[in-house]
Amino acid sequence: MASPAKQDQRTSSKKVAVVGAGVSGLAAAYKLKSHGFSVTVLEADQRAGGKLKSVSYNGLIWDEGANTMTESEPEVQCLLDDLGLREKQQFPISQNKRYIVRNGVPVMVPTNPIALIKSNFLSAKSKFQIILEPFLWKKYNTSKVSNDDTEESVSGFFQRHFGKEVVDYLIDPIVAGTSAGDPDSLSMSHSFPELWNIEKRFGSILAGLVLSKLSTKKENGGVRNGTTGKRKPRRGSFSFQNGMQTLTDTLSKELGEDVLKLRSEVLSLSYNAGKSASQNWSLSYTKDHNSKDLIADAVIMTAPVCSVREMKFMKGGIPFPLNFLPEVAYMPLSVMITTFRKENVKRPLEGFGVLVPSLEQQNGLRTLGTLFSSMMFPNRASNDEYLYTTFIGGSRNRELAKSSTDELKKIVTSDLRQLLGVEGEPSFVNHFYWSKAFPLYGRNYDSVVKAIGTMEKNLPGFFYAGNHRDEVQPYNTGLLSPVGRISIHYLLSNFLIIAFICCMTHNINFQVAMKIHYWTGMLYCNSCILQ
Ligand SMILES: Cc1cc2nc3c(=O)[nH]c(=O)nc-3n(C[C@H](O)[C@H](O)[C@H](O)COP(=O)(O)OP(=O)(O)OC[C@H]3O[C@@H](n4cnc5c(N)ncnc54)[C@H](O)[C@@H]3O)c2cc1C
Repeated sequence: MASPAKQDQRTSSKKVAVVGAGVSGLAAAYKLKSHGFSVTVLEADQRAGGKLKSVSYNGLIWDEGANTMTESEPEVQCLLDDLGLREKQQFPISQNKRYIVRNGVPVMVPTNPIALIKSNFLSAKSKFQIILEPFLWKKYNTSKVSNDDTEESVSGFFQRHFGKEVVDYLIDPIVAGTSAGDPDSLSMSHSFPELWNIEKRFGSILAGLVLSKLSTKKENGGVRNGTTGKRKPRRGSFSFQNGMQTLTDTLSKELGEDVLKLRSEVLSLSYNAGKSASQNWSLSYTKDHNSKDLIADAVIMTAPVCSVREMKFMKGGIPFPLNFLPEVAYMPLSVMITTFRKENVKRPLEGFGVLVPSLEQQNGLRTLGTLFSSMMFPNRASNDEYLYTTFIGGSRNRELAKSSTDELKKIVTSDLRQLLGVEGEPSFVNHFYWSKAFPLYGRNYDSVVKAIGTMEKNLPGFFYAGNHRDEVQPYNTGLLSPVGRISIHYLLSNFLIIAFICCMTHNINFQVAMKIHYWTGMLYCNSCILQ
């Protein structure tokens, strides 16, 4: 293990430019800074946080971007501990109470397969199909298992295992509520990589989930990889007392103004291999309308792929065109915050929120879903009102997402009237429109991932670590809960960074470092500075 003095020498002379101050960029920068690297974060916007955006106004608190995350990954636990965020963590009240609309009415979703079988949520036929799934999908029946070459859709995959009703009333609302996508367009291997792999290993999804959980428990032997194993993670989603932006605000504060440069839009990046393997990168950016340059040994790119496509890349003095980087489709989304006086909500529901399946549009519902924000977190509104967060648009209704605030207010009020019995007009309305809320992990998404790999291969010292990468699971399978993305970004960022630091300090190829860490499962390198 290297001595601290040696560590500092090895890392402080290394300069890393991080592009983008969303949660991926900030977490990456924090990790690198804590290991002694000289880091600069360049952020185009005037604020840090990217798609984490919390607002406090007149006694109300709401999130216009991500609303919750989980701490199932050990790295997220470490980050929360390191940042001293435990005291600010806020777990939703009754978070297991989640609703999906059936025949125009919110129905509580059973939380496990046994409860699902016992409930009336699905027809007898679908329940029978679920019960039979472990028997019909035995491991040896590989003829049914999809192969790597097929870009199967999410709906195709789940329909094969559980039938159409499960797709229509569970999968469709979940993917709409978590990624604004639709199960026909989304690629199974990129959207649910864990389940995709479970089918390959076990055939049956249900049996595979149980068996893989048991084997993980056995392998870990109670000790969690990469942590001291002291703390057992609390299950489920959480936020922070002042909303999700607390996480990125805290990271920004830790990094300080010297590291984090706001209003700094990166326009071009140039790689020039010098005699030594250092200071090969030069980034041009505008800071408050002035042109500036930054020299670095390596670049961690966390801007969305659509922004990367607009940047100019040079290699060895000649243009390095990114024409091989495919265009990514994005889902537009409007986020509507409304409050209603409690006496005007005749059928309030306790719990996390309600999702609307596409089929329920025939019952007049036009929103994707609503989070019961102040039911989950009572400090989000005063005692005599409820605050709701409603999502509209996505691939189901792209045009609707762009509607005016007035139009959307009518739609939200009408849906909440039907679902919760609200009367009259909301006492407060706020509208935020994301033109590119989520990348669509569509059925040709492999080409995006391969192109990112090509960039890294051809541009030594360039690493992509945003939420467009395939190791990133765009959402977990928890009902209603669009969690996992942030935490998994962080894990990914962490993993990349560990490999990155390893290759920087040992002067080995990045791909080799990645492989070492991947195959050994090491998040901490025994032989380099990270011990
Ligand atoms: C409405 C909504 C709800 C969501 N809900 C959840 C949820 O509940 N749970 C969850 O886990 N996830 C949720 N997500 C997804 C989650 O918020 C994102 O996956 C995550 O925040 C992405 O973080 P990132 O750092 O990878 O990217 P971003 O947050 O997009 O950050 C990228 C940054 O790069 C900057 N940038 C772009 N171009 C340049 C340039 N040329 N130069 C410098 N900087 C540049 C951008 O300004 C931005 O700040 C939600 C997203 C949305 C939109």
